[in-house]
Amino acid sequence: MKKDLSIIIPVYNEEKNIPILYERLKKSAEVISSDYELIFVNDGSKDTSLLELMRIAEKDDKVFYINFSRNFGHQTAVTAGLDYSKGNAAVVIDGDLQDPPELIPELYAKYKEGYEVVYAQREKRNGESWFKKVTAKYFYRILKEMTHINIPVDTGDFRLIDRKVIECLKQMPEQNKFLRGQIAWIGFRQTAVFFERQERVHGKTNYPFSKMMKLALDGITSFSDKPLSFVTKTGFFISVVSFLIILYAIFSHFILRQTITGWTSLIISSMFIGGIQLLSVGIIGEYISRINKNVLDRPLYIVERTNIE
Ligand code: UDP
Ligand code: MG
Repeated sequence: MKKDLSIIIPVYNEEKNIPILYERLKKSAEVISSDYELIFVNDGSKDTSLLELMRIAEKDDKVFYINFSRNFGHQTAVTAGLDYSKGNAAVVIDGDLQDPPELIPELYAKYKEGYEVVYAQREKRNGESWFKKVTAKYFYRILKEMTHINIPVDTGDFRLIDRKVIECLKQMPEQNKFLRGQIAWIGFRQTAVFFERQERVHGKTNYPFSKMMKLALDGITSFSDKPLSFVTKTGFFISVVSFLIILYAIFSHFILRQTITGWTSLIISSMFIGGIQLLSVGIIGEYISRINKNVLDRPLYIVERTNIE
C-alpha cells in the first residue's frame, strides 16, 4: 500500500534528540499530507534510542522503526530505510536536527513542480569545527574533479527522492554505499534548495575522521578510476626518467670517463621509488578490497526487529 511521503531518519545515539525531532518532523509532514510515515533506522545505538523510538511508535501509528543487530553505518541505515519505505517520495534527513525538518515542505514543493530529486544544499554550516568545514569543502570539490558524473557540492544526504529513484537504488546492490553519488549517477531531473546547516542539538558527531575518510574513499573508488590511472602515469613517468639517467650514467662512464658516485643519490632514489610503490599498491588495494566485499555478497544489514510488515 503506497503512501504520499516517507521520511527516513538514521539514528545512532540520538536519545536526547528523538523526542524533539519527532515533534518537528510530525509538524512538517502534516503540512504536506496526512498520509506519511516516519521510518527511524536505529543503527546499533548504545544509548536508549531504541526504547525512545518504540515508545513513540506505540502511540503513533505513523511511526516505524527498524532496529539493526549492530552498527552498520550511516549509508547502510539510510539504504534500509529506503528499502522498507512505501512513499511515492522519500525524504532522507539526519537525526541530530542539523538538517531542519521545516525545510521538508520546500523540498516537497519542488518535487510537485516535477523534479525527481530535490537536494538540500548547504550555504553555511554552523557550529562545526574548521577542520570539518575545510575537509568537507575540499572533498566535494576534489570528487567533482575526479568523477564524470555531476555530484553536487556541499550536499549531504538530506534530500527528497521520487519512487522511481528509490527503485533504481534498489537495483544497485553495491556494498560500499555512497548514496549521493549513486543518486547523481541515476540522473532524472534534479534541483537544489538552499539552507543553513544548524548546530547539533544534543550529543556529538558520529563521523570522526576515520569514518569521513572511509566515506571519501568509497565515493572516489565507486565513481572514479583516476587514482588508478595516476598509478599508471606515475610509473610511466618514473620509468622514462630513470631510463634517461641510465643512459647518462653509461655515457658518463665510458665517454667522459667519470663514474657517478654517491650514497645520497642512491638512498634518495630508492626511498622515492619505495614510497611511490607503496602508495600505488595501497591505491590498488582500496579497489581490490571493495571488489572483495562485493564478491562475498553478504547482506548489507541485519534487522534485529521492526514494526513494519
Ligand atoms: N549515524 C548513523 N550511523 C553511524 C553514524 C551516524 O546512523 O554510524 C547517523 C546519526 O545518528 C545522524 C546521521 O547519521 O542522524 C549523521 O551523523 P552525524 O551527525 O554524526 O554526522 P555529521 O553531521 O557530523 O557529519
Ligand atoms: Mg550531524
